[in-house]
Amino acid sequence: KDIKNLTQKKGREETGTFMAEGLKLVIDALELGWTIRTLVYAKNAKGKPLVEQVATKTVASGGLVLEVTEKVISSITRRDNPQMVVGIFDQKWTPLRDIHPQEGQTYIALDRVRDPGNLGTIIRTADAAGASGVILVGDCTDPFSLETVRATMGSVFATPVARATVDEFLAWKKSAGVSVVATHLAGSVDYRTIDYKRKPTVILMGNEQSGLPPELAAKADQLARIPQQGRADSLNLAIATAVMLFEARRHLLELAPVK
Ligand code: SAM
Repeated sequence: KDIKNLTQKKGREETGTFMAEGLKLVIDALELGWTIRTLVYAKNAKGKPLVEQVATKTVASGGLVLEVTEKVISSITRRDNPQMVVGIFDQKWTPLRDIHPQEGQTYIALDRVRDPGNLGTIIRTADAAGASGVILVGDCTDPFSLETVRATMGSVFATPVARATVDEFLAWKKSAGVSVVATHLAGSVDYRTIDYKRKPTVILMGNEQSGLPPELAAKADQLARIPQQGRADSLNLAIATAVMLFEARRHLLELAPVK
C-alpha cells in the first residue's frame, strides 16, 4: 500500500521517494549513486544473477528487498505487463543556487510544464543532447511521477533537475552570467542565427497551452523563433525543445571535433 501511494504526488512528497520500473533503470540508478530504499521483484525473477546483485546492493545500503507476485507488481505499477523489477529511490533535486553554468554548457528552463510525457521526453532529450540540466520554473508537473520517469527512459537519473519560482529564476539569471534564449511564437530572432557559444545558454520554453508569460519573455536576452510552414500554429513543447537543444549542440560542436 505504501509503495502504491507513490503513484500519487502526495505519497511522493511525504516520503521524498519515487518509483522506477525495470532492472536496467535500477542498475543505472545505483551506478549513478542514487539511494535505493526498496527493491521489489517478481518471484519469477528470483535467482537471476543481475537481480541477485541489485538485491545484495540494496541490503548493503540498508534498503528493503521484497519478493512479490507478478500480480502485486502489476498493481503497484498499474500495468498489465509489468517489469519484473521495481526500485524505490530517494528523490534528488539540484538546488538552483548550486548551478554555476560554465562556458560551453546549455540548460533548459521550462515554464509551468504540465504534461508528464513532455517533461519526461525533455529530460531524455536534454540528456541525449548533452545539456547540463533542466530547471523547472513555476508550478510544473512532477519529474518523479511514474509517467514522467517512464518517459525519461532512465535519463532522470543522469540529468540534474532544479526547481524555482519565477522570481528565484530571474534572480539566479542575474548572478549566473547566463544568456537566456526564450522561445516564443512571436520571437524576432531565427533560432539558427543565435550565438550559443558566447555565454552559457539557458533555453527557456513556454507552457504548452499559454506559451511564455510576458514577465518571463521580457527578461529574456533574446526571443527565438523556429520558422514553421504549413497550418500548425506551433510545435509540440518537447519537439521544440529538441530542435533548440540540437541546434545549440551543433553550434557548440564547432568548437570541438564531433565524438
Ligand atoms: N499557444 C501557445 C503559444 O501561444 O505560445 C503554444 C505553446 S507551444 C505548444 C509550447 C512552447 O513551445 C512555446 O511556448 C515555445 O516555447 C515553444 N515553441 C513551439 N513552437 C515554437 C516555434 N515555432 N518557435 C519558437 N518556439 C516554439
